[in-house]
Amino acid sequence: MNQIDAPGVPRAHYRQHGAGVRLTCLGCYKHRDLPLEPVIARLMARGVGGERTGIREVARYVSEPCERCHGWRFETAPAFQSAARI
Ligand SMILES: [Zn+2]
Repeated sequence: MNQIDAPGVPRAHYRQHGAGVRLTCLGCYKHRDLPLEPVIARLMARGVGGERTGIREVARYVSEPCERCHGWRFETAPAFQSAARI
């Protein structure tokens, strides 16, 4: 079963995995990994979401364009590399 369906698994679920958020630009495929807690905190501060916001929904709330191609279309997915280090 693929757990990553729209609108996505709630953000808080990934805490148990120590996962972050991987933000990928759909224009140039540049990606960067963001820590989970600050992402949740920013969504809550802006009043657009929080712990229950799905991983894929986070892409809608990106507030800066891609630094490489200046595009605004993104995809978000869990970033598990931090867990892999353990
Ligand atoms: Zn880009």
